[in-house]
Amino acid sequence: MVLDAPGRPLRRAEVPEPEPGPGQLRLRVRACALCRTDLHLRDGELEPGHLPLVLGHQIVAEVESTGERVGVPWLGWTDGTCAYCRSGRENLCPNARFTGRDVDGGYAEWCVADERYCLPLPDGVADLHAAPLLCGGLIGLRALRLAGDGERLGLYGFGSAAHIICQVAVHEGRRVFAFTRPGDEGARALARELGAEWAGDSTAPAPEPLDAALIFAPAGELVPAALRATAPGGVVVCAGIHMSDIPSFPYADLWRERVLRSVANLTRADAREMLDLAPRIPIRTTVRTFALEEAETALAELRAGRIEGTAVLQLGRSAASS
Ligand SMILES: [Zn+2]
Ligand SMILES: [Zn+2]
Repeated sequence: MVLDAPGRPLRRAEVPEPEPGPGQLRLRVRACALCRTDLHLRDGELEPGHLPLVLGHQIVAEVESTGERVGVPWLGWTDGTCAYCRSGRENLCPNARFTGRDVDGGYAEWCVADERYCLPLPDGVADLHAAPLLCGGLIGLRALRLAGDGERLGLYGFGSAAHIICQVAVHEGRRVFAFTRPGDEGARALARELGAEWAGDSTAPAPEPLDAALIFAPAGELVPAALRATAPGGVVVCAGIHMSDIPSFPYADLWRERVLRSVANLTRADAREMLDLAPRIPIRTTVRTFALEEAETALAELRAGRIEGTAVLQLGRSAASS
């Protein structure tokens, strides 16, 4: 499924099987989970690396040459030589290439990926349930770690990443407060089911002050709202790659050592931690499956806020059976 230009629907296309370059593996895609970043690329809110482009960076695939099952995340390549790469911060490498943006991704039957960025996946986690871990889980976990170890954790936007990170936080003994769009009863019910002790409206005040908040929704107005909900010394982490402009707010909302920061991309160390944790908790992802050729429909459902948990393209499934 090909993106010809931002703002245009994805198009089903027959293209030659990709040829692996030096250090790359050819992979047969088994499942690819959707991420909001795909939607930002589709809608022109983020710049694609090339066009036409194949989206998708939460890929569960089989290595053609060995049959090994691997995961392919957003971080597709780094130079390994810059100051960031040499200090354990490859997520900030200025020359990084990203899967489904700079390298064609997993909305396809085949893809290629740099072997060093293919992740071994834990046994016992099925393809459809492993795929959502590969961005929502990995970058979500990085956001959680950057938020510190405060007990009262707010999650703003309860979609793919939040429904995974809620389970990690509960496992760590934290108290989770889920803030959803006004009226989104489905997301609130899922949050409560996954251990959140409170789920309510993102425009309403928090029931008690938070020690940290993770903002997964791309809505800038949530930043001042989350700061107001946070106790002195608390941390607010913006976990998405794109957000609407943040409205101005009084300095008093930040004062008393509140911290506001973003999280960008992931490192392979984040990936190892998450993929090690997932089967031990164990994390159970809620997925809604689509056939590959339904990718545009799946993105429309995500845009409309109608996906509970994660939308996943399941390869080898025909559209008629959905
Ligand atoms: Zn992503
Ligand atoms: Zn680098």
